[in-house]
Amino acid sequence: MKILVINSGSSSIKYQLLDMEDESVLVSGLVERIGEEQGSLINKAHPGTERQMVVNLEQPIPDHGVGLQMVIDLITQGESAVCSKDEISAVGHRVVAGGPFNASLIITDDLWPALTETERLAPLHNPANLGGAKDATRLFPGVPQILVFDTAFHQTMPSHAYMYAIPYEYYEKDRIRRYGAHGTSHKYVAGECARLLGKPLEETNLITIHMGNGASMAAVKNGLCVDTSMGLTPLEGLVMGTRSGDVDPAVHNYLAVNRGLDVAAIDNILHKESGLKGLCGMNDMRDIHAAIGKGDERAKLALAVQTYRSRKYIGAYMAVLGRVDGVVFTAGIGENDDVVRAKTIEGLEPFGMKINQEANAVRSKDPRKISTDDSPVSIWVIPTNEELAIARETLALVAG
Ligand code: AMP
Repeated sequence: MKILVINSGSSSIKYQLLDMEDESVLVSGLVERIGEEQGSLINKAHPGTERQMVVNLEQPIPDHGVGLQMVIDLITQGESAVCSKDEISAVGHRVVAGGPFNASLIITDDLWPALTETERLAPLHNPANLGGAKDATRLFPGVPQILVFDTAFHQTMPSHAYMYAIPYEYYEKDRIRRYGAHGTSHKYVAGECARLLGKPLEETNLITIHMGNGASMAAVKNGLCVDTSMGLTPLEGLVMGTRSGDVDPAVHNYLAVNRGLDVAAIDNILHKESGLKGLCGMNDMRDIHAAIGKGDERAKLALAVQTYRSRKYIGAYMAVLGRVDGVVFTAGIGENDDVVRAKTIEGLEPFGMKINQEANAVRSKDPRKISTDDSPVSIWVIPTNEELAIARETLALVAG
C-alpha cells in the first residue's frame, strides 16, 4: 500500500510517498515560497538510492492547490513517476493542534466545523495544515484523508498536568487547558528508544526532548505522556528559535501599560521576536555558535538561557517520573548539536545522567547512545521521523 504524507505549512508543502510494504520512501520533496513571485519545488524520486532522480522547478506557484497538483503530476507522470495516481491508497496530514481530538481520524464532511474551531489554537500552523487536507480531498476524490494531530500523544496527560490554575469556567466554556505539541515526534522517538533499550514501551519511562526551531519536552511514563512543556498553544515551555517559551503572564499587561502595545503586537513579539532571536538577534543555533566563537556575549547568553531552561525541565520531569530509563534528544538542534546537548545535561551527573563526551561528539544520522556505560540513566540521540510515524498512523486507520 502506498501512502502520501503531507505537511502543509503557510507557504510550503513538505511531502513523502511511502511504500508501506517495507516502509521505504519512494518520493520526498518540498514546495516552497507558495504565493510569492517565484516559487520552487524540489522532488526526489527514490531518494538516497542509486535510482534517485531529482527534479528542480522554479516557477510561480500561486496557491497550495496548484503546488499539490504539481507534486501529483511529478509522482505519477513522466520520467520521475513512481506509481499511478490510483495506487495511492491514502493521504496522511500533519496537523499541529487537535484541541479536543484525542486520536488520528479519517476526515468526513461533518467534522469540518469542529476542525475549523481548532485553528485558533495554532494560528501559525493549523489553517495551512487543514487547507492542505482540503486540497487533497479535492485532488484525490474517494481516497481516505487522515489527520494526525501533534497533540494526540499528549491526551493521556492527567488533569493535574493539563489544567491551568485559572477560573474553571475558562476550561469548561473555552476549553483552555494544556494540549502540548510535537506529539507525533515524541511518540516516535519514545517507541524507538524503548526498542533500543530492549524494554517493552509499556514499562519504559523517558524524557523526550524535541529541540528544533520549535522545542518541547515530554515526560513519558510506561509509554504514555504524563506531561509536556507546550501548553494551550505551542508557545509555552522551552526557549525556541523565535518563541519565548515560559514568561510571567503579567508581561502582557506590563507591555500594554508601559509601551501601549495591543494584544496582537504582544503576541507577535512572543511568537516571532523572542526566544534565541530576541536574546541575540539570531534564531539558528549554527549562527549562534559562530557568533560565540567571535566573542559575542549576547549569543553566549542566548545559549545559556536556552540550555538552562531545558535542564530545569529535565529536573522537573525527573520529579514527575520518579524513575527515568532514558533521555532522548531529537530534531534539528537535538540531533546535530553536541554543545547544546552537553550543556543541557551539565550538572545532572548527581541525578544519574553521565554523558560520554566522545560519543556525544560523533556526527551521524543513526540513532545512538551518548551516555557512559555506567550512567544509570541512558542518554540518546534518535533522529525523529514524523513522516514515517504519520504514515504508520494512516495505515493503521485505513486498515481498520
Ligand atoms: P527543525 O525545526 O527540527 O528543522 O530544526 C531547525 C533548527 O535546527 C535550526 O534552526 C538550527 O537552529 C538547528 N540546526 C540544524 N542543523 C544544525 C547543526 N548542524 N548544528 C546546530 N544546529 C542545527
